[in-house]
Amino acid sequence: AEELLIRSEKLSIAGQLAAGIAHEIRNPITAIKGFVQLMKSGIVEKKMYLDIMASEIERIEMILSELLILAKPQIIQTERKDIRMLLAQVTTLLDTQAIINNVQIITEFDPDIPIILCDENQLKQVCINFIKNGIEAMPKGGNLFIQVTSKNENHIILRFIDQGCGIPEHILSKLGEPFYTTKEKGTGLGFMVSKRIIENHHGEIAVFSEENKGTTIEISLPIAH
Ligand code: ADP
Ligand code: MG
Repeated sequence: AEELLIRSEKLSIAGQLAAGIAHEIRNPITAIKGFVQLMKSGIVEKKMYLDIMASEIERIEMILSELLILAKPQIIQTERKDIRMLLAQVTTLLDTQAIINNVQIITEFDPDIPIILCDENQLKQVCINFIKNGIEAMPKGGNLFIQVTSKNENHIILRFIDQGCGIPEHILSKLGEPFYTTKEKGTGLGFMVSKRIIENHHGEIAVFSEENKGTTIEISLPIAH
């Protein structure tokens, strides 16, 4: 009986994982669909949208390999990247969602932010996860700040600051557990996968939150030397 129980638990985890992956893949597909429609209408410059679509397709491939990240530590392919460029691309993708939810995304960069070493697609996924969590925490809208500062000669700091519902103590302790979600359509995978990716980058993550005030996600990432 015990074995049966374990087996059915495993099955339901597989089901939840499948739901999560499907959800993550639907986002880039929705974006691609939207761009195809815009291009069909003929009112937009095609090159820019093709670039975004190509990178979205790449993201789908990455999400599929996320199954493997979850199964075993994956070798990340790091490149030298300008975090400002990366954030600009991510916020372009999420602009519509922000506008629909009455959220203003405000980016604040220190001058002379150094180049970092990262796996572009994985770090994009991290940023998308935290921006979406911020938007979802503000059902009545508000400001979502994205700050980048130089921490010291070895690290930059990336912050996502929302003015949302905040995270109560009992949920804070569950953050990072797979499938823990308080949302009807949530997967409870975003935080866990993001944390895993940041750790694979030799970075750190901290969460500061106050109920009904908001949440700050603070990430430190190593600079490329
Ligand atoms: P999901 O967003 O699919 O629920 P996550 O792993 O991204 O999964 O987040 C897990 C839970 O943590 C959320 O359901 C929510 O309760 C809480 N949470 C995460 N980020 C925030 C935030 N910025 N503000 C308030 N609650 C948050
Ligand atoms: Mg989430």
